[in-house]
Amino acid sequence: MKQYPVTKNQQIEATIIDLSHEGMGIAKVDGYPIFIENALPEEEVRVKILKVGNKFGFGKVMEILKPSPDRQTVENEDLLRTGIAPLSHLRYEKQLEFKQQQVQNVLTKVAKMPEITVLPTLGMEAPYAYRNKAQIPVRKIDGQLATGFYRKNSHQLVPIEDFFIQDPAIDAAIVTVRNILQRFNIKAYNEEFNEGFMRHIVIRRGHYSHEMMVVLVTRKAKFFKGKEIAQVIHDELPEVVSVVQNVNEEKTNVILGKEEKVLFGKGYIEDELLGKKFHISAKSFYQVNTKQTEVLYQKAIELADLKATDVVIDAYAGIGTIGLSIADKVDHVYGMETISEAVDDARDNAKLNAIDNATYLVGRAEKVMPQWAKEDIAPNVIFVDPPRKGLDQTFIQAACDMKPEKIVYISCNPATMARDLTHFAELGYTTDTVQPVDLFPQTTHVETVVLMSRIEK
Ligand code: SAH
Repeated sequence: MKQYPVTKNQQIEATIIDLSHEGMGIAKVDGYPIFIENALPEEEVRVKILKVGNKFGFGKVMEILKPSPDRQTVENEDLLRTGIAPLSHLRYEKQLEFKQQQVQNVLTKVAKMPEITVLPTLGMEAPYAYRNKAQIPVRKIDGQLATGFYRKNSHQLVPIEDFFIQDPAIDAAIVTVRNILQRFNIKAYNEEFNEGFMRHIVIRRGHYSHEMMVVLVTRKAKFFKGKEIAQVIHDELPEVVSVVQNVNEEKTNVILGKEEKVLFGKGYIEDELLGKKFHISAKSFYQVNTKQTEVLYQKAIELADLKATDVVIDAYAGIGTIGLSIADKVDHVYGMETISEAVDDARDNAKLNAIDNATYLVGRAEKVMPQWAKEDIAPNVIFVDPPRKGLDQTFIQAACDMKPEKIVYISCNPATMARDLTHFAELGYTTDTVQPVDLFPQTTHVETVVLMSRIEK
């Protein structure tokens, strides 16, 4: 049997040498790494070994023998345990440096571009209470409906009412909705047996408009007294302009199902970004930190340095937020997006803002781009804003075939972004500016905007 330098349940004293990209402290015993929650670089800690794996182990802090000067007090340790705010024990200034360093690391190691300097992360003045959306599981605990968040790497619900990083009006609304459901004797979902009824409460609240949408995710379509409940939710929470039932019958981690029914109100909320109005429906993607999204878009727009004659592509467009923010500065905007509800929103949003030079299409970016290339659409600037898995090679090839002067890449995953930047480089696009923006304070998530430009050959 292979020998490891530590054994399960053993307690050791260790010095933390690094912070993983998931925010875990790393200590090494004879070269064997141990990942430890709630431990920061340079700290000396007494650790109990929880798990010994083939290449690395996990440990739990029993005592902090020497705290880091960068440590700050966490009011409620459930915020660390659940992964709601896994970096909240680190001073905010250092969180911003940590994110800049994450991006620098992948540019050096993955993209092999050590010569590029990543700019300091643009952070928030008040880095909490920012989330405009909550997706909260509903379970039964001690015979009552409970709301909270899962313990990390598990589906065990930890009851929480103050989520710290969420809009406090959303925190309050979750409790109100939960109590209404309790009064109506609604059954909580049981994940183990795929039984019961109420799976999740999803709430969105417009940062500027304060309009609220409540989505009740249920296991079955039949919702006894659903409309009555929706009306009571509106009566007790007058900001609620829409209550939607979403049906998800599957045994799955995916929160929303396909089928939807409006139980009360208009079926969407309206909010603003950079002075433009946006309809947002339940299934559409919308950035969760409105203020920092404005900082992000402003930076992206500044880097793009648009001209009135420019044709622009807004790829992975969502509800059209990026394209419609710039449409009045350019000649035409083309956008594509896979979720048809989001494309409906994007088209509505164009009308809502009296924009008639934007065309939005339902389709997969990697299919639509080569098609547009064939149709001789010749963009001067392409914005891309893909999900975590990044871009497809077909997409990158088609984008470069169109020979835009600039490509602005907005990324929520530095690792796939770094991979993609090398592919763009092979096709003649250099990385000029790399700017992280903190959209997710107190968490380890990193958002980055990158400007690439074409080298004339
Ligand atoms: N630019 C928007 C949305 C960004 S999120 C904003 O800032 O709000 C990424 C979006 O890409 C999501 O709306 C998702 O539905 C969409 N998407 C995911 N895979 C896609 C694909 N293969 N092609 C096109 N869009 C896709």
